[in-house]
Amino acid sequence: MIKMLNIHPLYSSSSGNMFHIESDKTDILIDVGVSYKAINEGLKEINKNISDISAVLITHEHVDHIKGLSLLCRKNSIPIYACGKTANLLSDMLKEKNITADINKVFYGQPFKINDLEITPFETSHDAISPCGYNIVSNTSKLTYATDLGLVSDEVFEYLKFSDYSVIEANYDKTMLEFGKYPYPLKHRIKSDLGHLSNDDTANIVTKLASIGKSQFLFAHLSQNNNNKEVLLNTIENKLLENDIPTSNISLNVASKNLSGEVYNIC
Ligand SMILES: [Zn+2]
Ligand SMILES: [Zn+2]
Repeated sequence: MIKMLNIHPLYSSSSGNMFHIESDKTDILIDVGVSYKAINEGLKEINKNISDISAVLITHEHVDHIKGLSLLCRKNSIPIYACGKTANLLSDMLKEKNITADINKVFYGQPFKINDLEITPFETSHDAISPCGYNIVSNTSKLTYATDLGLVSDEVFEYLKFSDYSVIEANYDKTMLEFGKYPYPLKHRIKSDLGHLSNDDTANIVTKLASIGKSQFLFAHLSQNNNNKEVLLNTIENKLLENDIPTSNISLNVASKNLSGEVYNIC
């Protein structure tokens, strides 16, 4: 018996996302935004096979979250879960390609079960049709997964607050984005309330959570062009210290872009 949740951030960046979450009875994936070949390579890296996967949870329809979905569904009959209109959109997309898929429509705030996991999708503020994050509760642990959001709403904060472990986006450093080579409309989109979280935004949330005793964080979906691990961790640590919160007991981790072999355990 594992008696914990294991988190494997197999792919995490603006160019492709896929997390593997494992309880003592269940293996699931969150997003499949890499090629089908990369999905299989990712699973092999952690000694898993596609046939081990009980479900795939999709956060939204952007390509960095669904790139491998069509081929995955063509070759396997794994149940796919997505929120509201995202589920309709994915069903239509797969039907157009003559792919029969087991798409399950779920709704914001309504929990569903996958074996020993209770999962609740929640709304995120992002420029997609029905974007969501997921709160995942096992017999022993609570995890909240929130990437691709322009702001952290009170509701998202509540899920983070009542979790043992937060996977949260830290997409860009404001200065790197400002002085980088992205065209103005793209910079504007990223910074908007329907875009992505900056390191400063994430630092503020971490500070609020740390001040009420939360101590386990994994930062995800870093931009390759407008962020890096050192800049992010400096921003977070400085913000904590400014607020007189010692960093020694707080676990601050950064998900690597590709297959690093990292595993995080929530006991
Ligand atoms: Zn997105
Ligand atoms: Zn994304």
